[in-house]
Amino acid sequence: MADVIACPDCAAVQRLPGLRRGGVVQCRRCGSTLERSNGRSLDAALACAIATFLLLFPANLLPLMSVSLLGSDRASRLAAGVALMWQQGFMLMAIVVAAQAVVLPFFRFGLLASVLAALRLGRAGPWVGIGFRWSERLDLWAMPDVFLIGLFVGYGRVRHSLPVQIEAGGWCVIGAAFLTMVTRASLDRRTIWRLIEPPEMVAPSGLACTSCDLVTDQHEPGSRCPRCRARLWPRKPFSIMRTAALVATGYLLYPVANIYPMSIAVQLGSPKPHTIFDGVQELIGANLWPLAAIIFMTSIGIPMLKLIGLTWLCISVRRKSRWALRTKTRVYRVIHEIGRWSNVDIYTIVVFLPLMQVGQLVSIHTATGAAAFLAVVVASMVAARWFDPRLMWDAAGEPR
Ligand SMILES: [Zn+2]
Ligand SMILES: [Zn+2]
Repeated sequence: MADVIACPDCAAVQRLPGLRRGGVVQCRRCGSTLERSNGRSLDAALACAIATFLLLFPANLLPLMSVSLLGSDRASRLAAGVALMWQQGFMLMAIVVAAQAVVLPFFRFGLLASVLAALRLGRAGPWVGIGFRWSERLDLWAMPDVFLIGLFVGYGRVRHSLPVQIEAGGWCVIGAAFLTMVTRASLDRRTIWRLIEPPEMVAPSGLACTSCDLVTDQHEPGSRCPRCRARLWPRKPFSIMRTAALVATGYLLYPVANIYPMSIAVQLGSPKPHTIFDGVQELIGANLWPLAAIIFMTSIGIPMLKLIGLTWLCISVRRKSRWALRTKTRVYRVIHEIGRWSNVDIYTIVVFLPLMQVGQLVSIHTATGAAAFLAVVVASMVAARWFDPRLMWDAAGEPR
């Protein structure tokens, strides 16, 4: 029964042909990839998840980078950057950054390693479905890989004016980020879900679960999926209203994030504001074109394209458009997955802050633009999560 699933993008119910080595299974209605077994292995994913989890400890505890500034050595630790953000009055921002960069990666990889180990050892209890659902959900929010790019940009920004060195913690971040990507590439989520057997169901023709895609025997909205215990709804509740509200918030804050400075450097008492665009220009000035392109894309391009994309998808549901449904479904997938990379600039500040605090001489302060920017990123990520792509297919009235 576990092989009968409903496509999370278009709701088409289909039977998966089962694990084929090196195969890709696409949804027959919308073309989304439902299963990819290329190079996937439970053992490899388990080994990577455990290694990432262990590397997160030194990555968080040891210094990331150090600079020699006016005869004194200064080191940057992740927690020190978050603490400085808090002290400078940006408490909410410090909490969000600490969650994404410090706390959630531990939960993501701790949960994933426990679930995979339990399945490997044949000790899977009823908690395994819930554990795997949460580890999947946290995949978007736990960001060692995004943090690594932030670390590189921070390094590039400091290096052209000061001698800076990557320290042990920095190497551990590089290792953890690399392993995060290998974990994602070796994890065959469809096979894992198949291994987590749901209880026998009488007639699996009820609501479909949007977390594990199981077609259940439950018909009551709000009841729980028998396999992963997620709440079941015919469609995500108030999807368009919630998405539209968050997208509107994004449009309001986007100019604030771009006009106001992300950080303010105070040198010998004179403040020098630093907007996103100043950061891009500075990197171009230092001949760091690739980093400048990354910051331009992740901080200016992607947030705007995401807001425009989600607007287009919401309007097309309202207008019951039948046009380019497959393309729009693909656009939705890209928006959903690319959003987290916008956090790069915020992480640059976190890495940068502790390095540049030298008493009265030089100090860097977090500024309003950064808070607005983080709000745009989080609002658009949550908006993408609340948008239900199945509504586009419903509204078009296409036969299944
Ligand atoms: Zn589909
Ligand atoms: Zn489920």
